Amino acid sequence: MRFYHDRPQNRLRNALSRVQHWQIRLNNHLAKWVGGCVLCGRGSRNHAISARLCAHCLQQFPHHLTDSTEFHRCAQCAHLLTTAETHCLACVTEPPAFTETLTFADYAQQLQHVLLQYKFHNALHLAPMLADLLHHALLHYARTHQPDVIVLVPQLDTRTSERGFNHLRLLMQHIALRNIWDKTPPIYAPEALVRLHHEHLQIHVKPDARRKQVKNAFAVLDKSLFENAHVLVVDDIITTGATLNEIAHVLKKSGAHRVDNLVIARTRKTPLK
Ligand SMILES: [Zn+2]
Ligand SMILES: [Zn+2]
Repeated sequence: MRFYHDRPQNRLRNALSRVQHWQIRLNNHLAKWVGGCVLCGRGSRNHAISARLCAHCLQQFPHHLTDSTEFHRCAQCAHLLTTAETHCLACVTEPPAFTETLTFADYAQQLQHVLLQYKFHNALHLAPMLADLLHHALLHYARTHQPDVIVLVPQLDTRTSERGFNHLRLLMQHIALRNIWDKTPPIYAPEALVRLHHEHLQIHVKPDARRKQVKNAFAVLDKSLFENAHVLVVDDIITTGATLNEIAHVLKKSGAHRVDNLVIARTRKTPLK
């Protein structure tokens, strides 16, 4: 991610980020020895969602899924809704190719920091904790859904070698799908989709530009896998939804009858700063 690091406005942020990164690493080591939280090193860990986090740090991940505090979101794109509607206006006027999106939390505060550290600063020690969050969302999804195939949003091979790891595959390695869907677990097919070209970091791009960037960016390697299938696509963050929409289009062209998304975090519609 050379271009990301080299932007002058990001240098201070990166320096601060590195300090926080080492704090988290230190806490992670302390946590191993004294049983504290992986992020703050203090507190008793919260076993309900992640055995690696304390209740206080878990609260820093806004609006996580629990039975008691379910946030009202658009069923299709997972944006927070202030009304009782099931779908947001954007999804009603121009429905995406996917049917549902489930997110663990908002992409904000501590969770945003943790995901950036993990993805762009090689904070691999955060993988088990992030996998716990993904696992929790999968359990939630599995209560009412039985997908046939699970795929991951692919990254280019060059990106994998730049980073040294595939961030989604590493998380999925910590998750036993057989324990989630014990009767008929879905086929996990991390290699069924490939990325053909790569777009620049997309976080601040307008939706229209984003749609153009991801056009024809993905291809299916084995069509037979998706014939009449209910597919679940796993990603870390949903922003405009353009990438996931393009993937849903590709999967449906390959025969999928339904495509859902499951993500760890969803950016808010309004800028966070
Ligand atoms: Zn903590
Ligand atoms: Zn929506």
